[in-house]
Amino acid sequence: MATITDSLDSLFRLSKEVRIGLQRLGIETLRDLLFHFPARYADSSRYISISNLTEGADVTIRGVIKKIAAKKSFTSRVPMTEAVVEDVSGTVKVIWFNQPYLAKMHPVGSSIELTGRVSAHKGMLSVINPSSKEERALAIDSHDTLFGGIDTGDVLTPIYPETKGVSSEWLRHAVARVFKALPQIDEYLPSEILSRYSLPSLRTALVWIHTPHTKEDALKARKRFSFDEIFSLNVSRQKERSLLSRMQAYAIDPSSVDLASFQKKLGFPLTGAQKQAVQHISADLERDAPMSRLLEGDVGSGKTAVAALAAYLTVMNRPFAKGTKDKQAFGNLQVAYMAPTEILATQQFESFIELFKGTGIQIALLTGSGARKFPTKIASSQTLWTPISKTQLRKWIANGEIPIVIGTHTLIQKSLEFKHLALVIIDEQHRFGLSQRKGLAKKDSHFPHLLSMTATPIPRTLALTVYGDLDLSVLDELPNGRRQVITEFVSDAKREAMYDSVRAALKEGRQAYVICPRIDEPDPTKQSALQATSVEAEAARLAKDVFPTYRIGTLHSKMTKQKKDDAMTAFAVHKTDILVATSVVEVGVNVPNATVIIIEGAERFGLSQLHQLRGRVQRSSHQSYCYLFAEAKSDKTRERMKLFAAAKNGFELAEYDLQLRGTGELTGARQWGVSDIGMEALRNPKLVEAAREAARALITADPDLTAYPLLAARIAATDVHGE
Ligand code: ADP
Ligand code: MG
Repeated sequence: MATITDSLDSLFRLSKEVRIGLQRLGIETLRDLLFHFPARYADSSRYISISNLTEGADVTIRGVIKKIAAKKSFTSRVPMTEAVVEDVSGTVKVIWFNQPYLAKMHPVGSSIELTGRVSAHKGMLSVINPSSKEERALAIDSHDTLFGGIDTGDVLTPIYPETKGVSSEWLRHAVARVFKALPQIDEYLPSEILSRYSLPSLRTALVWIHTPHTKEDALKARKRFSFDEIFSLNVSRQKERSLLSRMQAYAIDPSSVDLASFQKKLGFPLTGAQKQAVQHISADLERDAPMSRLLEGDVGSGKTAVAALAAYLTVMNRPFAKGTKDKQAFGNLQVAYMAPTEILATQQFESFIELFKGTGIQIALLTGSGARKFPTKIASSQTLWTPISKTQLRKWIANGEIPIVIGTHTLIQKSLEFKHLALVIIDEQHRFGLSQRKGLAKKDSHFPHLLSMTATPIPRTLALTVYGDLDLSVLDELPNGRRQVITEFVSDAKREAMYDSVRAALKEGRQAYVICPRIDEPDPTKQSALQATSVEAEAARLAKDVFPTYRIGTLHSKMTKQKKDDAMTAFAVHKTDILVATSVVEVGVNVPNATVIIIEGAERFGLSQLHQLRGRVQRSSHQSYCYLFAEAKSDKTRERMKLFAAAKNGFELAEYDLQLRGTGELTGARQWGVSDIGMEALRNPKLVEAAREAARALITADPDLTAYPLLAARIAATDVHGE
């Protein structure tokens, strides 16, 4: 008897091509196959095979792009895109006039659906100017696209995410075979939850999602799986939370610390939101169970100051004497601050030096390329810090001498040990799971408190789910005196005038970013290749025609990490005036002298991502500008750009994105470890709330899931995100 965890080899004889294709889709076991859900359904009677095309017919074909290129037509020099599309029966040439950009939108290998008229030219059939739908663009978060125009009574044929060697056809047959081999599939969701929310059982839902007889069945199945995923994620997070609440942390006594005088040194009064966050944190730290708090705030909202206050509270406390709860009379607790990149770690080190100057508290920086210590004892030093050897620093961290250590992921390497690590602060890491925290706690039996900070704007439903193990503090006001970035949606006619004003800013010694558009492609590796070309081409054009006297750098994801760091550093120290980049320009990078950001192809970005890009120039005391260009200027684009220009905070924009364009628009939606079907649930706050409540009730009653071994197994099997 087959079981759901068996590998595919138990049922199938796989050719090499199919095996590689399945691997690419992440399918190894029978379960993986059953959980590879259709992206949508088609009425199979609508399609025609390429070998059956006839001149003059209006047809819809489905196939894969074999070749594609932008060209100029031979006779009239009209720009056009020419492609060859293949299905199982043959190939056909496809031509689009006046749409050269399509070549970038539909790269070789992508699946496409085309509707148009067949023409003949010199005895060759071709499809001219068809309307096209890219498979991936057919998002599944709207039921209209899920069933694209299918009427009741049509045959519902599932269309799957495909890859070379693994077609929807192959998957349909394979799934049927698995169902035959698995007459029974054990349910892992508690039965009372299924009945409370009227959800179909696992086997029924699987059958309905793969071979629905009606749209209603398919929708019920999808609802079950999206609830299932959000519920399971919540159970997993709540379980961690419950585990953590039973761990021991250093209780930090805020009343023993003169926080007020440290605050005075900051040189500005805290905003109301900052004050409240500090209150939350100090109440958390006072407990001896580890804090798990997320500090959410737009770029420039002042997260660093809050982090510094939390660090100050911590390091001004002494460790307990061994085996007791009495404070020692010497030593101090330690703080580790982890940033996503070396540049950001270095910037944060400098900010902390500024804030901790005169307190006598030592701060170290540890990155892949070296170590530094503040304050320096060398009187002649130009800087407030001295370079030291990493080995020496590791010793000082291990014996507890250095209270604050700032670094990159080097901080969680095995070779680094803290003596009394009490607080971990992490900046823009999407998840810092239990096991990573355990790793840091290793030497010492105490679990560190965690303060996680992010400027990534995500909607509330997503935050509740992926950060279900964290308490939330939000910095929803910008510090006083911060200027609003002037945001302008520029028409092509005004492009030259805009460049004039940018040149004026450069002449005054300011710097500018130019962001090249995202290119929509299903294959993320190809995406960066194309973006790289667009960045290099735009940089060359700007150097030749627009800013010939200025120094231009480039930055994109195809570059090595070293090259990226070099490009960023060159811009940060003003060795380049203009940085032409993709949206990889790192979150949190601080170049206050950059006051202009030009965003090309702005309609291709989600609003929240545009907002993050605009944040790059929000750091200056000079007036900053954000100029937006769009290739396609529809009313909808204009409407979105208007919303964007007016919005004050990123979280608001993330909600618009979710409602206007669907989950695909959320910044890096994939990185959250939520599948497309799980994302569907996020547009439904009631469902998310219900899943959360149900998970909470379950974990409260049975924190170790002893009564639900199948659910525990499912969570263990799927929760690998960020661990
Ligand atoms: P982010 O939230 O992006 O990390 P930062 O902490 O870097 O923001 O703060 C941005 C700037 O605002 C810094 O120059 C900081 O000194 C300043 N700042 C922070 N809080 C306040 C405040 N309450 N009043 C005035 N300026 C502030
Ligand atoms: Mg910051």
